[in-house]
Formats: sequence, structure tokens, C-alpha cells
Amino acid sequence: MRAIYLFKRDLRIRDNRGICEASRNFKELVPIFIFDPKIIEELKAQGERLYYVYRAVEELLKSIRLYCFYEDTESAIRKAIKVAKPKALYTTTSYSWSGLQRQEVIRKVCKEEGVEFVEFFENFLVKPEKVPLRKVYTPFYKEWIKDLYLETCEVQSFEVPALELPTLEDIKKELPIKPFGAFDPSECEKRLESFNFESYERLRNYPALDGTSKLSPCIRFGILSLRHIYKKAEGRSEQFIKELAWREFWYHIALHYPEVRNLEFQEKRRSIRWENRENFIEAFFEAKTGYPFVDAGILQLKTEKWLHNRMRMVLASFLTKVLLVDWRIGEAFFKEHLLDYDEIVNAGNWQWSASVGADPKPFRLFNPILQAQRYDPECKYIKRYLPELSSYPCEELLDPLRHRLTYHKPAVNYYERINMAKSLYRNF
Ligand SMILES: Cc1cc2nc3c(=O)[nH]c(=O)nc-3n(C[C@H](O)[C@H](O)[C@H](O)COP(=O)(O)OP(=O)(O)OC[C@H]3O[C@@H](n4cnc5c(N)ncnc54)[C@H](O)[C@@H]3O)c2cc1C
Repeated sequence: MRAIYLFKRDLRIRDNRGICEASRNFKELVPIFIFDPKIIEELKAQGERLYYVYRAVEELLKSIRLYCFYEDTESAIRKAIKVAKPKALYTTTSYSWSGLQRQEVIRKVCKEEGVEFVEFFENFLVKPEKVPLRKVYTPFYKEWIKDLYLETCEVQSFEVPALELPTLEDIKKELPIKPFGAFDPSECEKRLESFNFESYERLRNYPALDGTSKLSPCIRFGILSLRHIYKKAEGRSEQFIKELAWREFWYHIALHYPEVRNLEFQEKRRSIRWENRENFIEAFFEAKTGYPFVDAGILQLKTEKWLHNRMRMVLASFLTKVLLVDWRIGEAFFKEHLLDYDEIVNAGNWQWSASVGADPKPFRLFNPILQAQRYDPECKYIKRYLPELSSYPCEELLDPLRHRLTYHKPAVNYYERINMAKSLYRNF
């Protein structure tokens, strides 16, 4: 008797509860991964992200035989069931909006084919539904930390039968991947081992420094177990653990308020009339806002497919509260570029930055000039992404309103626009 094991956002063997459970109950497993063209099409500008997943599958292949499909989920599952004739299909529980839709398709196919569908909770430290509803992060955290699920598991030995199913080798030529070197799944463990948790709190806000873990793609695709990460951070950085809780907070909110996928968490702010001026949107997308700190952030995002958290907040705040552009447009822009893009975390953070989300503070201010002066005082970050400005004195780059640079003219005057934003928000 055998079971299919469907990998999703859990691209690892070690401490993977789904495989642990499947291998405990079955001597034979048929591991599969599906590159679904519908999902790939939605993220079409993201060949690098697909490459990251492809590389993660290649890494898995070093320890197990794995069958790979490049077709829609429903037909791939039917094909796998037809050939493997399993008793059950094991996978991890989905919590993301699109993951839940996909899970329903898989469940339906299993039912129609008479295959038991078994799902296991994974990729969170606490089940999002376990914490009693909390709309604010701090009370959520206090509950969350009491309920951590930290028990690791051992995978039992299992056989993978040779079957007439496609492999990565068979499909790889068709995949629209774009090779990319900045992040690689094979480096996750090394990054975790070498990361200095002790200095995290002190350094994490300075985008020019390597002060954050850069584990977000490893977490997004389940390359590392969260329990494993937690144990490395435990006793070394409470702040880091709080960041892991932020991720789970957004899932908790999305579970109770699924409408936040498209709508503002704060109902009263659903009627804000965003200006959405084309020239401002274009200046932002093209990194030509005239604020070097902001432009450097946009360039980091576009070139590295990852962005420092401080800069994510600065950019999101600038787009929404200074350029008065709808947060959904920014959310889609990040979706197009981020390697660690997570629909729930991204939407939650965009709403938070735009002061329309789950946040008790009515209006958060991120003045791009003060932010630059505080977090990039020597302009190392600005000059890294805008080397053409390297000969300018730093103080001029930090404040483009006071100093006229031979650079893109500031698209707007921050102080005028923020007053407009304040009065716009005051009405809601
Ligand atoms: C507008 C905006 C959009 C964002 N979109 C995403 C996204 O699509 N995917 C994503 O993974 N993160 C997103 N974040 C959160 C955060 O910026 C990244 O997780 C972080 O920068 C990743 O870098 P790191 O791994 O070095 O983080 P570290 O500082 O080392 O933190 C460790 C881990 O904690 C989690 N984490 C940290 N900060 C947050 C946060 N604010 N919310 C949720 N989880 C957090 C991440 O899993 C991260 O890898 C967004 C933040 C903002 C402000």
C-alpha cells in the first residue's frame, strides 16, 4: 500500500510533518510536485521566483526520487492517482487564499477517485485558528507565544516506486525559469547557522547592513522548518521571534477576515479616494521619484527581488500617503518582484503601511527624508543602488527638497502631500 505525498510550500524532507506522518503510515510514498501553469501565469514576471522553486526541487532530488508535473493541479493529481494507485494522498494544510482554492480542487479529485485525503498542519508555529481572535498584534503575540508547537518529527525510511510519471528532467525545458544567483535554497541552512541573532535588534533597521536574516524565501517555500529556525533564535533574539509572530498574525487576520484580500481591514477606510495619478505611479515603478532613498529601495527590489523591511515600509508609505496611490497597486508591484511574495503577508503589510489595516494607530508617518537621515546617515544604501550619485555630499542626497540635485526632480513636495493625505484620512 502506498500514498502520494504532494509537496507545496514545504520543500524539504527534514522535520516536515506531512512526510513524517505519511512515512509512518506507508512503506511506499510517491512524492510529487506540480508546477501549475495557472499559478506561474499569475506571477508571469517572476521567472526568478520560479527558478528558486525549481532549484528547491533540484535540492529535494538529492535525497529522494520525485515526480514533477507541468500542468494544472487537477489533471496532474488525476494522472498521479491513475498511475500510482495510492490509498491516500498526504499534503500540508493550506491557509493562503489561493492555496485554499487549490486544496479544494485536490480534495474533490481525491473524493472522486476514492483516495483518502490527509492534510497536516505545517509552516506555522501556532495554528492560525488556535489563537483566540485578536485584531491587534501585541495581544495576539501574548496568546501566540503561549501556544507554540515546537515538537520536531523524524521521517521514517520509505521507498519510492519507479513509475511511468514525469520527472523534473522531462519538464524542465518547458518551465519559464530565469536563472538568478542572489538567493538559492541550498544556502538557507548556512544562512541560518551563520546568522548573528544577538545583533539582530540593533542592526535590523539599517538597510545598508546585512543585519536581518534574509530567510524570508526559505520560510516562504518551507526550505527550513520554522521549529528549527525558532530553536536557533530562542534565547538569542526575542525581537526575531516577534517577527516570526508578525507573519502568523497576518494569517490569523486573513483567516477571520478573508475579505482583506482585496478590501481594507478598516471598513471606514474603504471609501478613501486615491488619486492614482499615472505620472506618479510611473515615477514610482521606474525609481524616478526624485527621493534618492526611495528610488534606491525600488531599485533594490527590482534587481535583487528582495527588499529590506525598513525599505518596504518606506516605499509602501510613500506610494500610499505621499503619492496617494491605492495600496492595491503597490501590493501588485511587490507581487511582481518579490521572491518571498506571500499574498497574505504582503496584503497585511501593505494595509498596515497605508494605515487602512489591522493597526490601532490611526495614521503612521514615514517621512522619507527623516527615514533616510536616520537609517542611512552615510548614504551607503543610496550610493549602492544609485552609484551615479556617489560624488554628491551625503546630506544633499538625504534631503532632495532642500538641495537641488542634478537628478530626477522630486515628483512631489513631501510636506505638501502629507498634509493632503492627513486631511484625506481625517474624513475616514
Ligand atoms: C509593504 C510590505 C510588504 C511585505 N511583503 C512581504 C511578503 O510578501 N512576504 C514576506 O515574507 N514578507 C513581507 N513583508 C515583511 C518583511 O518585510 C519581510 O518578511 C522581511 O523583510 C524579510 O527579510 P528577512 O528574512 O531578512 O527578515 P527578518 O527581519 O530576518 O525576519 C525574520 C522573518 O520574520 C518574518 N517577518 C519579518 N517581518 C515581518 C512582517 N512585517 N510581516 C510578516 N512577517 C515578517 C519573515 O518571515 C522573515 O523572514 C512585507 C513588509 C512590508 C512592509
